[in-house]
Amino acid sequence: KPTAIVCVGMAGSGKTTFMQRINAHLHGQKEPPYVINLDPAVLNVPFESNIDIRDSVNYKEVMKQYNLGPNGGILTSLNLFATKVDQIVGLLDKRAAPEDGKKPIQNILVDTPGQIEVFVWSASGQILLESLASSFPTVIAYIIDTPRTASTSTFMSNMLYACSILYKTKLPMILVFNKADVKDPSFAKDWMTDYDAFSEALHADEASNAFGGVEGEGGGSGYMSSLLNSMSLMLEEFYTHLSVVGVSSMTGQGVDDFFSAVREKADEFNRDYLPELERKR
Ligand code: GDP
Ligand code: MG
Repeated sequence: KPTAIVCVGMAGSGKTTFMQRINAHLHGQKEPPYVINLDPAVLNVPFESNIDIRDSVNYKEVMKQYNLGPNGGILTSLNLFATKVDQIVGLLDKRAAPEDGKKPIQNILVDTPGQIEVFVWSASGQILLESLASSFPTVIAYIIDTPRTASTSTFMSNMLYACSILYKTKLPMILVFNKADVKDPSFAKDWMTDYDAFSEALHADEASNAFGGVEGEGGGSGYMSSLLNSMSLMLEEFYTHLSVVGVSSMTGQGVDDFFSAVREKADEFNRDYLPELERKR
């Protein structure tokens, strides 16, 4: 069965560029994926998609007709689209086991709206994810803007968000530290595997007054640093459940590592997640 890779991440983290990169990579390996765009508001999709939400809902019209702002427009478009999920899974099933002797697809790539919360915390996002996961091994690729995650506090915010998505979706997750051409993600790997490394970075941030506390008054900075320290300890367990890869969607570095992680997580899906899903059904 093909593996579904769902790209989520903050606006601007590089989901669409990453999709373009892994799509090109799979084409290069003569394994063209099945590509789904779920972002109704995107102007240009830089890859060819088999299913595009924009073909069935007009985001601008939805905003006008229902008198909505941008976020409401995206959410309502997603809701309208989610009513077709059975048809989509039907199409995917056909491509996964073609009757006409064609080659079955190995990968399904899904791009999601720029505003992460619209997909992750909406009923329609959940319906789309659950429908995919009930038919195919499904993994979440959480795309991170590495240069914007390089301080201890932004790093921790991002990890907490990833953690909340893991528990919301209950699907295996790969952390994709993107834009490695701008900032080497090895610091992040260190912080996730070595508690002392994060602690040291905290002390350095504290010493340089990065948390904005008033020097000598033991104000904000001491509190921030001790909170981040505790969180880092708490997240150790969470980190052990993740695969972590550094990539650049610009240069293509790390894409092979990403696909190794996908294979690993797809096995994990079949081993750990599928029995749980079937038990609930
Ligand atoms: P999305 O909102 O998550 O879909 O993000 P986009 O794919 O639209 O990318 C946002 C911006 O980041 C664009 O200007 C991209 O060119 C840029 N970008 C994405 N990936 C990379 C990368 O690996 N390296 C660099 N330097 N820029 C990137
Ligand atoms: Mg995008």
